[in-house]
Amino acid sequence: MSATRVLVIEDELPLRLALCDALRGEGFEVLEAADGERGLALALAEAPELVLLDLMLPKRDGFSVLRALREDRLSSAVVILSARGEEWDRVQGFEYGADDYVVKPFSTRELVLRLRAVLARSAGRTPGLREEGAKVRIGEAVVDFAAYTLERPGARHGLSRMELELLRYFLAHENTTLDRGTLLDDVWGRDADPTARTVDTHVLKLRKKLEPEPENPRHILTVHGVGYRFCRQGELTSR
Ligand code: CA
Repeated sequence: MSATRVLVIEDELPLRLALCDALRGEGFEVLEAADGERGLALALAEAPELVLLDLMLPKRDGFSVLRALREDRLSSAVVILSARGEEWDRVQGFEYGADDYVVKPFSTRELVLRLRAVLARSAGRTPGLREEGAKVRIGEAVVDFAAYTLERPGARHGLSRMELELLRYFLAHENTTLDRGTLLDDVWGRDADPTARTVDTHVLKLRKKLEPEPENPRHILTVHGVGYRFCRQGELTSR
């Protein structure tokens, strides 16, 4: 049997060298990258069993790498490395399909134990295609980002790529008032040519799928004259 391959994406040279040494010492085959772009390219080209992913990286940050990996349905397990106390990052990481999270500084012993646990959990996956994608609960709905579906008690809906992107963005900016211009720039991109109506149209479609009562939404709330605010748990608004 060939060795399990681990890709280390970490820009701090001393840490990367220490990690690579420790992993080779444990019998892993190790690939390494010092920035997000190179890391993503290597991950897609080599499909390693596991990716160790730093968040603060030059050229492309860790979340962007993770999103791109999952969009390409790469089945590699991903363990995020990050600085202490970044609770927001931890939540985000799991939402985007990270398998585990290790806080710096960590002992290589602890890290190797965690990696082995993650590898054991992911051993049953079909290589190349991620079967248990990132599922996120929103109120009583479950969104499956890998399967492009949203399920609520008694209903199952397909989601378009833009509906998923918009939901992803809402999840990353929970309880924040988002104006239509920001949503257009960040979700659709500056080069696209949608109008403010595009945002409203997508919100309407999402509400019909997500909200128990679309005409009285509790997750995607209207902020009059501005845009929208997303509430994952669900908020009861006055009628
Ligand atoms: Ca870094």
